[in-house]
Amino acid sequence: MHTSRNDIRSNEEEVRIWDPVHECLSRDELEMLQLTRLRSTLERVFNNVPCYQGKFRDLDIHPSDLIDLSDLTRLPFTTKEDLRLNYPYGMFAVPMRQVVRIHSSSGTTGKPTVVGYSRSDLQIWADLAARFMTAAGVTDEDIVHIAFGYGLFTGAFGLHYGAELIGASVIPMSSGNTDKQIMIMQDYRSTALVCTPSYAMTIADRMEKSGIDPRSLALRVGLFGAEPWSEPMRRELEERLNIVATDNYGLSEVMGPGIAGECRHRCGMHIFEDHFIPEIIDPETGKTLPQGSVGELVLTSITKEAFPMVRYRTRDITRLNYEPCACGRTHVRMEKTMGRSDDMLIIKGVNVFPTQIEEVLFQVEECEPHYQLVLDRAGTMDTLEVQVEVNESIFFDEMKKQRAFVDHLEKRLLSALGVGAKVKLVEPSSMPRHEGKAQRVIDRRKP
Ligand SMILES: [Zn+2]
Repeated sequence: MHTSRNDIRSNEEEVRIWDPVHECLSRDELEMLQLTRLRSTLERVFNNVPCYQGKFRDLDIHPSDLIDLSDLTRLPFTTKEDLRLNYPYGMFAVPMRQVVRIHSSSGTTGKPTVVGYSRSDLQIWADLAARFMTAAGVTDEDIVHIAFGYGLFTGAFGLHYGAELIGASVIPMSSGNTDKQIMIMQDYRSTALVCTPSYAMTIADRMEKSGIDPRSLALRVGLFGAEPWSEPMRRELEERLNIVATDNYGLSEVMGPGIAGECRHRCGMHIFEDHFIPEIIDPETGKTLPQGSVGELVLTSITKEAFPMVRYRTRDITRLNYEPCACGRTHVRMEKTMGRSDDMLIIKGVNVFPTQIEEVLFQVEECEPHYQLVLDRAGTMDTLEVQVEVNESIFFDEMKKQRAFVDHLEKRLLSALGVGAKVKLVEPSSMPRHEGKAQRVIDRRKP
């Protein structure tokens, strides 16, 4: 049993906090702990990782120079490029005999990055996954259905061990074979669904098609992550699967899922600050931005042994909120990410995130939750075509009504994005369905 596990009661309602000692530290206590852990991490990387040794020397910094948390901004960043240059094991801070697990992150270009975990790293990982799963409402009564792909990807294993630690019953389904997923959910009475939000949508579609009423299932909560998704998509999933849909955040380079997660107030994801120090920077200049700004999230892991990251540039765009949360946890909350800065599309000089388009489409009743964005170039001008599935009432409607609907959508997109898009309606069920992370952008502008 977990020693620090306690139930805290407040406002007559039960609020479960997995590790109240660490999740509810005062800011002063937290910062003291962060400083101690950060200093030992810096010593470790300086002594064991040549890449960091070089970076520190280039900036004429020694780990012992760090006397205050604010000195963190003087330290060098770590980027995905550093991981590529040191492929496969160059960034490891312990000898291989101490590494007990290897994962890797999907490389969209070039080789994937390799990450390693010591025994202690795995214990902490499971504990942090238990934290956010508890915050989402998972208990030892739950039957947790994991529909993330099991493999090198960190998603499935991260939640798997977190759920086991809580004492829930884990079904290691893996992804794919949607009909079988639904059958298992029906027969085994799965109560919590773990997958990408786009796969949850695929499951909802299939259930609807097969005439299965989500209320006949035992599902009550969804733990969705591994890709950015919008609030309207959350509402749609909640309605169609008859669940409470929660968001959590992680990335393999820093640990995997278990970096941050929503509590039941769902007003941002608490970042587990006793293990990670977050910063927000301007992605263009690398300068630290004032509190409350939208920018790129930078994370420093302060307890990882095998693969510590100092100021890792996540490329994720978000905002931090240090206001106290009603749940009692003191850790800072990050907003739902708008997407990776790599996902940001620059269309006619305007920055557009696919999630902004999704927000518009999901607010229009006739649109089905499946879309694709096609970027192209006409002469020197960028063009954006939004292909969206619509329901039968619109698709088979008379041309005049269809035209008016397209005009209406194009106007809403223009006002939301600040740049014009052409809308193309496509037949219901004609778009590719996703079993893992959705591929929604086709960019034909690149040579
Ligand atoms: Zn909270």
